[in-house]
Amino acid sequence: MVSYGQLAAESAAKLDQVGIPKSRLEAEVLVAHAAGLIRTALLARLREEAPSDIVSRVDALLARRVEREPLAYIVGRREFYGRDFVVNPHVLIPRSETELLVSTALDLLGDVPNPVIFDVGTGSGAIGLSILAETTDSHLVATDISRNALRVASLNAGGVGVADRVDFVICDLLNGVARPPGSSVLLTANLPYVPAGRAPSLEPEVARFEPAIALFSGEGGLHVIRGLISALDGFLLPGEYALLELDENQGEEGLRMARELLPGFESAIKQDSSGHDRMLQLLKRVGI
Ligand code: GLN
Repeated sequence: MVSYGQLAAESAAKLDQVGIPKSRLEAEVLVAHAAGLIRTALLARLREEAPSDIVSRVDALLARRVEREPLAYIVGRREFYGRDFVVNPHVLIPRSETELLVSTALDLLGDVPNPVIFDVGTGSGAIGLSILAETTDSHLVATDISRNALRVASLNAGGVGVADRVDFVICDLLNGVARPPGSSVLLTANLPYVPAGRAPSLEPEVARFEPAIALFSGEGGLHVIRGLISALDGFLLPGEYALLELDENQGEEGLRMARELLPGFESAIKQDSSGHDRMLQLLKRVGI
């Protein structure tokens, strides 16, 4: 017989062996998932015997994790901005640094009445849906070129409880959406920005399992972002913002690109909570 505690310890050792960090935490998450429990409930039962079907389920999950499949895809969810989001290999797994887009959007929205958020390349929907869930009178237009990604975002709209305030549009960037007349818009986007040549240096979890279409964007990484920036002057009204995630090494180049393509905008780079350049903040100037 094996207890849940032993099962978690043995699982952690297996993850350790292949160099997976936070092995104990991940092992607990996997055992809890196999047992249909939340992690804290598992921790309360560590001395109890684990039924043999759960032991085999844990083995199967461990085998996937040892092959470097991300934990979030194995358990099918990831926490972002305090909420649970469904994820699968059709969408990028939300990263904590991306929460900067949400907190900045909420600051900038202040008391703008009935704002319309355009979340371009929404993926799981984590950014736009989090903004919506934190505000009561907002509306979201979430675009993605991937129908499978929009299915995930649509599930998440239900999960977060805001489905009645979201429109999903399958299209490339903004090619296929229109502003609701008379609305105030704020745009967010975490587009692919990893230079194609960097694939070999990415963690195997990212390079082998996350969708390439959500990660890679040409040689310098800024190809797709350039496409969106080029459309912003025609889309935003004076006084409106766009918040675009960038790689920590792309601050300078992103700023240069924005200043060249958007002379009528104020452009700035903002840092994430680790102090890394992470976001291009673009404001269309008023009165010029
Ligand atoms: N930050 C992600 C990574 O480096 C990439 C996300 C993206 O391209 N938008 O793994």
